Amino acid sequence: MIGPDGLGPLIALTCVNCGGKVEVAKSSAAQTSIQWSTEAMRRCPAFTVRDGCPHLRRTVESAVLEGALVISE
Ligand SMILES: [Zn+2]
Repeated sequence: MIGPDGLGPLIALTCVNCGGKVEVAKSSAAQTSIQWSTEAMRRCPAFTVRDGCPHLRRTVESAVLEGALVISE
């Protein structure tokens, strides 16, 4: 299923650091779109609006390596 904005399916990921639950889709190797819930933002001590959570980036990378997160190219 590809969304109207060309993104692949959103998958739910949990930040390894803070346990915040977010939904992530990858449209290319360099492009990750992350949907933060208010609860996850509040929960994450490292969250910034500009960069999101640095730990979550690692979570996303391992999800890609494990094949859980598929790049929709
Ligand atoms: Zn976090």
